[in-house]
Amino acid sequence: RIAVAPARFDSALEALHTVYGYDAFRGEQAEIIDQLARGGDAVVLMPTGGGKSLCYQIPSLLREGTGVVVSPLIALMHDQVDALIRNGVRAAYLNSSQTAFERAEVERAYLAGELDLLYVAPERLGSEATKRFLERGTVALFAIDEAHCVAQWGHDFRPDYLALSELAERWPGVPRVALTATATEATHQEITERLSLQGARHFVSSFDRPNIQYRIAPKLEVRKQLLDFIRTEGRDAAGNAVAGIVYALSRASTEKIAAFLAQNGIDAMPYHAGLDAATRRRTQERFLRDDGVVVVATIAFGMGIDKPDVRFVAHIDLPKSVEGYYQETGRAGRDGLPATAWLAYGLNDVVQQRRMIDESPGDLAHRRRLASHLDAMLALCETVSCRRQNLLGYFGQQSEPCGNCDTCLEPPASWDGTVAAQKFLSTVVRLQRERNQRFGAGHLIDIVRGKRTPRVDQYGHDALATWGIGQDLSEQQWRGVVRQLLAQGLLQATGEYGVLTLTDESAAVLSGSRTVAFRTEPERAVRSTRRAAP
Ligand code: ADP
Ligand code: ZN
Repeated sequence: RIAVAPARFDSALEALHTVYGYDAFRGEQAEIIDQLARGGDAVVLMPTGGGKSLCYQIPSLLREGTGVVVSPLIALMHDQVDALIRNGVRAAYLNSSQTAFERAEVERAYLAGELDLLYVAPERLGSEATKRFLERGTVALFAIDEAHCVAQWGHDFRPDYLALSELAERWPGVPRVALTATATEATHQEITERLSLQGARHFVSSFDRPNIQYRIAPKLEVRKQLLDFIRTEGRDAAGNAVAGIVYALSRASTEKIAAFLAQNGIDAMPYHAGLDAATRRRTQERFLRDDGVVVVATIAFGMGIDKPDVRFVAHIDLPKSVEGYYQETGRAGRDGLPATAWLAYGLNDVVQQRRMIDESPGDLAHRRRLASHLDAMLALCETVSCRRQNLLGYFGQQSEPCGNCDTCLEPPASWDGTVAAQKFLSTVVRLQRERNQRFGAGHLIDIVRGKRTPRVDQYGHDALATWGIGQDLSEQQWRGVVRQLLAQGLLQATGEYGVLTLTDESAAVLSGSRTVAFRTEPERAVRSTRRAAP
């Protein structure tokens, strides 16, 4: 017998009180829920911990039928469904971890109208059989969690997500919501287009985490620096050790660093995907349960770990993207109390990551994408202005200097780059206005440095007024200038080819009404790796 799951509550607030035991909605939750409950679509950009789950769970309880949630993380699905069931919500999931028998029971419950919420892995929802099955019952809404996975431009693309574009055609009357905690303007647009959410209401919350102090230091002796950091920051006011996460790129280094910290009296344990499941579970449980545990981990650690009192997140290797950095540092201070995000990065990180990009499988467009992610991360590392301003700016959010990051607290050495910026920006503007041409950083740098290349000859760019006006800086320094112009929002890179164009802010620099400061760059590798002459 096929039936429709009835609406469980009359009002959102009633559901909030009864199911979750909370008093009031936070931020835009109430508006988002209202939009979906009334049958509209929504795109929700909200930071981790902001409370995205309620935004689709409650409308599912208010509408007839079953809310179908697409979620890529099987472990997370499991936890969410368990928590819902404990709160009296009829929830279940369909994924590859189940036996055929378990799946059949979930399918029966869905068709009998006995489910308020059904979590489905994206590869499953992509299959025709699953779609036909869902059509036999009644879907209250579709929630697409971690929606940034649909964006090829993003840092976490999953091909399975592309098939979700079909939901709009197959279920034209069913509201859909896409949610993510990491979205730049480019990713936001891609989500909107690929999931056919042009008619949706967009809810963009503040990405600021004011209680997190951001600090980025040059990497010198990283073990010693990390130990000093944990010794000074790793205790609360009463002198007790606090919980922290140290992120490293390789599995081997998580083990070595954890052993090093343990030798130095810190309760540290490694965590990475290469450890057996029992060890990982034990580490995770100790981290959640005991006070003062430090986990040294690859980025495999943290997804779905809801520990509110993580006091610090330290990165001893450079994250590959600002999105990743934001997501990982966001695991600190979810209780709203002061927390620290500390990152040590050195030139080797840059060299290593550039090489990894060059060697990575995939086409040129893919490598360009990775490179642009790295450039944005480097720009954050090198900014002379507020880290938070830069970070929020990356997510398209304007803000004032925060007073709670290293550059605000101890302003770094910088140089006046106004003239250099003008030279470069005027080259961009001339090419665009006089010739209707756009180029990437490499060719523009060749022009300002007056470097003759086949491309310069082909386009006759040596006839430009700005040809060769920037010979006072090296190519490397120009790269730094461009990177920092991008970081400061005075230039933007667009499209697969990363062509540079001006922003609304650029005009003030060109007219001389705004000055530009650049962080004095660390010495280049050439110096330290070059052998002394015999
Ligand atoms: P996200 O998915 O955005 O990372 P969650 O949905 O997991 O966030 O919510 C984060 C935490 O905040 C959870 O513990 C959740 O129960 C809690 N929470 C969400 N909304 C509210 C609210 N309105 N009042 C109190 N706590 C809330
Ligand atoms: Zn600041």
